[in-house]
Amino acid sequence: MNGRLYIKGEFKDAQFNRKFTVNNPYTLSEIGEQASASVSDCEEAVDAAYDAFCSYKKSNGYERAVLLRRLHALMVEHESELAAIMTEEQGKPYTEAIGEVRYAASYVQWYAEEAIRIKGDLLEPTHSSMRLKVLKEPIGPVGIITPWNFPLAMFVRKMAPALAAGCTVIVKPAEQTPFTAVKFFELVDRAGFDKGVCQLLTGDAVLIGKVLMDDERIRKISFTGSTEVGKLLASQAGKTLKKLSLELGGHAPLIVFEDADLEKAVQGTLDSKFRNCGQVCIATNRVLVHESIVEAYTEKLLVKVRELKVGNGHEAVDMGPIIDEAGFDKISRHVDDAVNRGATCLLGGKGFRQDVTEGGFLYPPTVLAGVTGEMLIANEETFGPVVPIITFKTEEEAVRIANDTPYGLSAYAFTEGLSRATRVSEALEYGMIGINTGRISTAQAPFGGVKMSGYGREGGTYGIEEYLQLKYIGIGI
Ligand code: ADP
Repeated sequence: MNGRLYIKGEFKDAQFNRKFTVNNPYTLSEIGEQASASVSDCEEAVDAAYDAFCSYKKSNGYERAVLLRRLHALMVEHESELAAIMTEEQGKPYTEAIGEVRYAASYVQWYAEEAIRIKGDLLEPTHSSMRLKVLKEPIGPVGIITPWNFPLAMFVRKMAPALAAGCTVIVKPAEQTPFTAVKFFELVDRAGFDKGVCQLLTGDAVLIGKVLMDDERIRKISFTGSTEVGKLLASQAGKTLKKLSLELGGHAPLIVFEDADLEKAVQGTLDSKFRNCGQVCIATNRVLVHESIVEAYTEKLLVKVRELKVGNGHEAVDMGPIIDEAGFDKISRHVDDAVNRGATCLLGGKGFRQDVTEGGFLYPPTVLAGVTGEMLIANEETFGPVVPIITFKTEEEAVRIANDTPYGLSAYAFTEGLSRATRVSEALEYGMIGINTGRISTAQAPFGGVKMSGYGREGGTYGIEEYLQLKYIGIGI
């Protein structure tokens, strides 16, 4: 594979033909080279996005809906190619990759339909000689920076509402997974957007990030990634007063109360923990189980977790490799620390290389019992396939432990009691709550967090507001 930048409606090599290599995380063998943008390439992309914005902002929602519908159809038509590339560069099982393409496409469809519903207000005036209008206008050219765990969905979830709102975009995907984005931009190219409406930049994150952050013409940055980089971008944004959306790390609790349906709780744990090998910001990171049912829950969970197969995402497996050695080391550190401090490893617990001493890094599905609050895994995001089980005695205690984190992205609770479900979902300090389900993300709902998990929302009627700004017009007649 060989990927190029996409600027002003054309695929092009980077200045001086600079490139970087991309590896398959399962074999660690090189799968291709991707263009590495220079400062001048980035400036060209900003110029293009700015020039195109001057006309794209005047398009109407019906015209933008046509473009997005075409893009949606192309995504559906090419889902297998997109998914195969994703598995190759990210490692996730092919069926999951297909799921991600469909999920991403569902946002394009939703925002094709939302583009025609942007509306302002006509306010009742104090004096009858006045007319008071409120318009919603696109905010301007937008920079989109996303991580490797969902190589397509993370940026499409931002790009679709931005384009629906009338903004032009510059997308900067992660260096580990640029090829899915390149394939997607081939579809963007065919969908018929005017030159400069959509740009793709790949390469050095700090270099690209700096050009986007420093340029006053970029009016908004939407970022998904680590809290550390999110904070850095928030401090840089002050210089040009850009609007920011930040979708950062999580540390999701999953609470199983004594009145839970254990089948649902086990399924919810599998759904929220093992997808993408646990490399998901809304993945369950702590399982809190009432002491009276912990044995029954653990027994049922182990039966299911034992069935999960780890391996090459192109084969029939449930989990692929860990993205890289640093990710693998973090998981190992969390598990080793828990065991050293007294947790019991009931399953898994030792990672391995794909080819004994070489190849990619794999971590088996792992279940730890007897986890306590001072262990690393109870305090940091693991980003791996590990279920740490912590017991509690009362509802108050469970909620206190669940909220005892700087993060606030997603939380899950399992109970058959309506009052308890209501109480607990209101008490949890999180942006998203799943009750009796481990799957909550969907195009019509607001995705996002509170506290150190960031701000801004993606999805639904809420998501498009991030790319619109108000203009008030007072008219004397
Ligand atoms: P992760 O740990 O999930 O890789 P990061 O926050 O490091 O998360 O990366 C998320 C995205 O942010 C990636 O596209 C990465 O290239 C980009 N990125 C990393 N550092 C910076 C930076 N200083 N400025 C702008 N983007 C950055």
